[in-house]
Amino acid sequence: MHCYINPKQHGKNTLSIETILSWLTAFYDKRKKTNVIFLGGEPTLHKDLPVAIKKAKEMGYSSITVDTNGYLFNDILSKITNEELDFLSFSLDGATKEINDKIRGAGSYDTCITGIEKAVSLGFQTSLIYTVNSENIDEFHLMVSLLKKLKIDRFFIQIIGIRGKSADTNSSKLQVSVEKWQSIVPSVANKIADLGITVTYPKVFLKPDEVFECAGNVAENYFVFPNGRVYRCPLCEDFPVHGQVFDQNCLTKTPKLNETDFFKLNIPEGCVMNRLIQPGNISYDDDGRPAYKIACCMLKEEIKK
Ligand code: SF4
Repeated sequence: MHCYINPKQHGKNTLSIETILSWLTAFYDKRKKTNVIFLGGEPTLHKDLPVAIKKAKEMGYSSITVDTNGYLFNDILSKITNEELDFLSFSLDGATKEINDKIRGAGSYDTCITGIEKAVSLGFQTSLIYTVNSENIDEFHLMVSLLKKLKIDRFFIQIIGIRGKSADTNSSKLQVSVEKWQSIVPSVANKIADLGITVTYPKVFLKPDEVFECAGNVAENYFVFPNGRVYRCPLCEDFPVHGQVFDQNCLTKTPKLNETDFFKLNIPEGCVMNRLIQPGNISYDDDGRPAYKIACCMLKEEIKK
């Protein structure tokens, strides 16, 4: 119910393996450490995903990750090895079947847990992604014991974005307050890190004196869609403001104005795109000043003990 992909903007194309390999080649730069994540939708639905993984490894990508809902379609685990794939990253949005399946659909909890157990038994390194929202934050603490039981290597915490389906139906209902986020997420993240699991989470709410940075200025991330659009900012993905596009497999810049113009703006609320598309998570004091800045959703804390 909270999938952020917007088919009205991105269509339903499936890329040929030739196109995928051509685009992987365009982004590989041997002078840099380059990581690739195949995600979706559900990437294991693509029958040629194993070929893409193997070729990305051969090209020299530093790490290769597949984000999956755990259904592991097309018998993917029998077609790749744990040496070819660096991480298999499972999405689970509840510590219990009741909450996860309310968000992700009936049967998805059991299927995901079975997929994780199978991947771990075959020696794949696994991570788990949990998107915190008002439906699942109260059982977030239960993830400590679940992650330990499942032998997960890395844990990624996200915060719900009011985009895609969340924006259509539930809007403010799924958002989490600053008080609730701060009273629950950092302490649970630390307990999970105490288990030896690497935990990554967004700071989300910055105090006025904390430094704000926009990933569009200080990092290199590219979100590539099957219609050829290439974005630097995930919050821009619901609008045709992408800074680059694949035109006949050739990566070209789009005309101005585009997302790169937002990255230069400096506002007291922090992230410009957050202010434009999900301002419900900002509050102001009596003088009209924002009580905190919203951090870039791409710049995260990592806890490794
Ligand atoms: S989410 Fe906000 S801060 Fe991050 S890249 Fe986009 S515009 Fe910049």
